[in-house]
Amino acid sequence: MRPASLVARLWTQGPPLATLLALMTDRHKHSLAAPCLSLLAACGAATGRFPGTLPPGPSLQEVLAARPPADDADPRPEDVSYRVERTALIDELRARCRDVKPPVEPPRLKTQNLVEPVRLDPSLRLDVRYATNENFLGAKVYDEARVFLQAEAAVALVAVQQSLAEHGLGLLLHDGYRPWRVTKLFWEATPAAQRDFVADPANGSRHNRGCAIDLSLCDLATGAPLAMPSDFDAFTAAAHPNYQGGTRLQRWRRDLLRAAMEQQGFHVYDGEWWHFDFETWQDYPLLDVPFADLNSSK
Ligand SMILES: [Zn+2]
Repeated sequence: MRPASLVARLWTQGPPLATLLALMTDRHKHSLAAPCLSLLAACGAATGRFPGTLPPGPSLQEVLAARPPADDADPRPEDVSYRVERTALIDELRARCRDVKPPVEPPRLKTQNLVEPVRLDPSLRLDVRYATNENFLGAKVYDEARVFLQAEAAVALVAVQQSLAEHGLGLLLHDGYRPWRVTKLFWEATPAAQRDFVADPANGSRHNRGCAIDLSLCDLATGAPLAMPSDFDAFTAAAHPNYQGGTRLQRWRRDLLRAAMEQQGFHVYDGEWWHFDFETWQDYPLLDVPFADLNSSK
């Protein structure tokens, strides 16, 4: 079997990429990760899957039909938000990342057209943790609590919101487009032993392309967050989209979010139930435009 078809078979039938990567030593990761990820990206494009994403789960109709009883226990998950010991003071890290430049990549098909989904549909709610101290760094890294996406992903997100609205539910947005220098800051701020949880700025993040969104569910009318199997950025087993702990109601909400997102072209990340990539992410370049320079009238 040729290597490409072997990888394609692994891709469609084998263990998740995260499992394979976990089995590799650090030395393997460094020497093999880049070529493997390129190959897997090509296979992903051919099979409709991307590195790190899961195949689609049950449809929205199937998940809705499996709704657990309303009296199912619904305790809040334990507060397990992840914190790292920052390597330096946040101002020092900001200064270190001020003049850095994203890696040079081959040209992409599309240019940036970032918009704020909440301006397309004001019923969307925001809870931008990186604009507060309530995040894994325990420090504010965004000057403004805003969420941007490429326009086509923002339109798809509004369609998700509309599909949930008839059930009294809405989306709660934690993070969308992230300037590349913030990814660099996350990397610099995180001790080397804990960097599995942050994107390597040498490759960038899909958030840097304006095509990734971190989000949860809320009550549409009140905006009250709804309990999920874990909190946002809780880097525990409960973060996995197929985690079987928590209550039935929490798992059902998580599965409902995933089904509604997949119906509109988003793919869930295999390590975080709250992170979704839009299907055209590979068409956009890595971006480092600050929020303040983006057109707020869109
Ligand atoms: Zn994310």
